[in-house]
Amino acid sequence: MNYPLPIAKLIESYMKLPGIGAKTATRLAFYTIDMREEDVTEFARSLISVKRDLHYCSICGNITEDEKCAVCADDSRDKSTILVVEESKDVMSMEKVREYHGLYHVLNGVLSPMEGTGPDDLNIASLIKRLHDDTVKEVIIATNATTDGEATAMYLSRLIKPAGIKVTRLAHGLSVGSDIEYADEVTLLKAVEGRREL
Ligand SMILES: [Zn+2]
Repeated sequence: MNYPLPIAKLIESYMKLPGIGAKTATRLAFYTIDMREEDVTEFARSLISVKRDLHYCSICGNITEDEKCAVCADDSRDKSTILVVEESKDVMSMEKVREYHGLYHVLNGVLSPMEGTGPDDLNIASLIKRLHDDTVKEVIIATNATTDGEATAMYLSRLIKPAGIKVTRLAHGLSVGSDIEYADEVTLLKAVEGRREL
C-alpha cells in the first residue's frame, strides 16, 4: 500500500533537507498531520518567506530583507577592514563576538574541485571590486579550517596581495576541520586577535 499523495509528497519534501532520510522524513510528515493548523500555516509561510523576502546584500553578499544588509548600512562600522566568510551564518557568529567592528564579505561557498565549485561560482568578483578604492587596508580571511577553506584562503590571498592590501587569516584556535559556526565567542575573539598575515 502506498501513502496517500499529500503525505507522500510531504515525505519527499522533507527528504530534500540535509541529513534527513526516508525514516526521519516519514516521522516528520506524520508529526505534521497532528500539528495544529495555525502552526502548520505559520511553518509554510516561513518557508515561502525565506525564499521571497530574502536576497543577497548588493555590497557584501550577506542575506538581507533590504537592498543593503544591516552591517553595510551602518555608517559607524570600520570600513578599512573586510572579514571574508563562507556563509551568512558565519556573519551572525562573528557579530555575537561584538569585538569586530569592520565589514564583511560573504563568498556563499568555498572553492571545491571535488564539487566543481570554481571562482566564478562564488561571490569573489564583487570582493575584488570593493578593494578598488583606497578605503580597505586589511582583508581577514575567515573561511573554515577545512581543506577547501584553506585552499580558498590561499587563492584569495594571491588575488588580493598584489593590490598592496594586508591579507590575514584567522588564527584557528579552532581545531582543523572545524566550522566558525560552532566556535564559541571566546574562541572566535582569540582567533581574530591572533590572526596571522598570509
Ligand atoms: Zn552587506
